[in-house]
Amino acid sequence: MIYLPSYRNTKPHPHICGHSSPGLHHFNFTTSPESTQRPAKMADSRSPVVDVHTHMYPPEYITLLTTRTAIPLVRTFPGSPDPRLILLEAELPLLEKALSGECSGQLPGRPLTKDYASLPQKLHFMSAHGIDISVLSLANPWLDFLPPSTAVSFAQTIASSFETSCAANPGKLYFFAALPLTAPIPDLLAFIPTLLNLSHCRGVILGTTGLGQGLDDPDLLPVFEALAAASLPIFLHPHYGLPNSVFGPAAARGEYGHVLPLALGFPMETTIAVTRMFLSGVFDKVPSLRMILAHSGGTLPFLAGRIESCILHDAHLAAEYQKSGKDKKRRTIWEVLEEQVYLDAVVYSAVGLKAAIMASGEWGSERLMFGTDHPFFPPVGDDEGNEKWESVGLNRTAVAMVLGEGSKVGQMVMGGNAVRVLRLDEE
Ligand code: URA
Ligand code: ZN
Repeated sequence: MIYLPSYRNTKPHPHICGHSSPGLHHFNFTTSPESTQRPAKMADSRSPVVDVHTHMYPPEYITLLTTRTAIPLVRTFPGSPDPRLILLEAELPLLEKALSGECSGQLPGRPLTKDYASLPQKLHFMSAHGIDISVLSLANPWLDFLPPSTAVSFAQTIASSFETSCAANPGKLYFFAALPLTAPIPDLLAFIPTLLNLSHCRGVILGTTGLGQGLDDPDLLPVFEALAAASLPIFLHPHYGLPNSVFGPAAARGEYGHVLPLALGFPMETTIAVTRMFLSGVFDKVPSLRMILAHSGGTLPFLAGRIESCILHDAHLAAEYQKSGKDKKRRTIWEVLEEQVYLDAVVYSAVGLKAAIMASGEWGSERLMFGTDHPFFPPVGDDEGNEKWESVGLNRTAVAMVLGEGSKVGQMVMGGNAVRVLRLDEE
């Protein structure tokens, strides 16, 4: 067992951890005593390897994208063997150039290879990387752009398509459904319980815009309540990033490829969305809500201390808290991370993974779940065509480096935690 000093917070949380003196909070990069009492299937045999962050665009979705004139869309360009998938606002300048016939030597978006839509290819990818179970999700931007009138029926089509794929591969595939967020709220609320009829649905994937105003929008509370009541966790995933202007003109000219929006825009988006939820009290209002945050929570594990410090030193929040009569103890973001949040392990480094585990509480390694982000980040250049994707290897290596290759706790991050949290041992 590796004990690390209390870097995580300046004040202990005695009500959670039983530690009363500051600085003695231990982080366990091992399993909790309780986990050894779990069923023999989990404790004695090798846990399956589970990918909780793996996307697909079902054929119905791709067909829709080919008919669209605004992003997200699919277009074919002369000189490109595959159609191109254009998703991100940061890709618009190059799209405009390409559509106007201006040759910049660079095409917008990414090639729409069979990795994006083909189920046999997903299964092939899984077997090439030793992945036993995948929890599929529609990739960004989900159904966020649909007209309200068709949102529910298209959400049903997509959910049925995933259910059919999963049912055809028993024990190997499950999915997170996409919500028809542009639909009228009563329709959206009626849609949620219907997901329980799809026996392979294990939660929902959600972007950060919610109904258009973000995830701290009070109008979203009934949606969170309905998801919590149905025991459907939210897999929160970024798409909108930060405004292009923050990345500057060279990025707009395509000189930095997709690096800035993907490496920085995506994680900041997640961090901002969850912090807004936290500040608005969503986690207190819906205590049985569970979230799995993509990309190990963006930058949340690293910034949680700063968020807490800013709250502690904020005169406006202090006055509001005084006014409220302090009848309730304020929950910290650390407590929310430890009680209501899981993180995927799509962080590509041991340093990031350690931070994610430490931010997730005393038994943080029981709250992390391996993922690949397939089909994004395929091999490029000399590696193109390689069966083994380096993006997958980086995440797998990080788990081995931090928790030990093949260790019990490493196996939990690689799959055991997902089996437990998402009930993947139930068909
Ligand atoms: N990963 C995703 O899930 N979506 C993107 O657009 C890029 C990376
Ligand atoms: Zn993703």
